[in-house]
Amino acid sequence: MRLLVLGCGSAFSDTGHNAGYALDGRLLVDCGAPAHMLLPRAGLAVDDVEAVLLTHFHADHTFMLPLLLGARGLSRASPAPLHLAGPPGTREYVLRLLLTGYGRHLHDLILERLGLECTTLQDGSDERVAGYRVRANAVVHSTGPSLSYAVSDHDGATVGFSGDSSLCAGLRRTVALSHLMVCECTGWDGPVPSHLWREEVERLMAENPDSRFLVSHLQERRTFPGALVAHDLLAVDVEAPPRVVPEPPASLRAAVVES
Ligand SMILES: [Zn+2]
Repeated sequence: MRLLVLGCGSAFSDTGHNAGYALDGRLLVDCGAPAHMLLPRAGLAVDDVEAVLLTHFHADHTFMLPLLLGARGLSRASPAPLHLAGPPGTREYVLRLLLTGYGRHLHDLILERLGLECTTLQDGSDERVAGYRVRANAVVHSTGPSLSYAVSDHDGATVGFSGDSSLCAGLRRTVALSHLMVCECTGWDGPVPSHLWREEVERLMAENPDSRFLVSHLQERRTFPGALVAHDLLAVDVEAPPRVVPEPPASLRAAVVES
């Protein structure tokens, strides 16, 4: 599974675009970055996106979505439907964005062309979205509902997305499921309300030594010992670790050899 970072910047920083990630060019997670521009720049097609998964409804995670929907829905005669997934209220929120951004006529046209069927997720959900297994865990942030996700491909490789989160039980459940954890790290030198900062991410890393960490949602870019540091258009390949098959007991091995 290939993760592409579309935006590594926190809400009000100039470090990079706002939050956005693509998995294999098929599933977008959040759309605060101008995905309609950045996907082609990375050799991917807007038409190949099958679903958009939202963590929560803040502007830095969603406000480029109307542009993506417009690029997808209006530039082709017969665009493929696009699926939405996210916390309760996702479809209503996205339609409100479309209406505010484009007015009634284009709202209706895009809706008619893309369908925008929605899978509603909540704490504990375990659903298929665009062929991926998506497990959702509620996190504590300044707006609700906010979800973190563990997204697995058919081989079991799993990428976690913190969304925006405090250090909480739901986030810990998502980290524990993830081979690569895309973890927000808004602060470097001290706590940031409703977000994670360096020491909290280090604590998660210590608790999960088998998970790789990619820190993102950055106020500024610094080195982070033991973790990858995101930048816009960074691509990371994620594989499930090979399964360890336990050795059969010696007596069984002997029996197999003799037969
Ligand atoms: Zn954010």
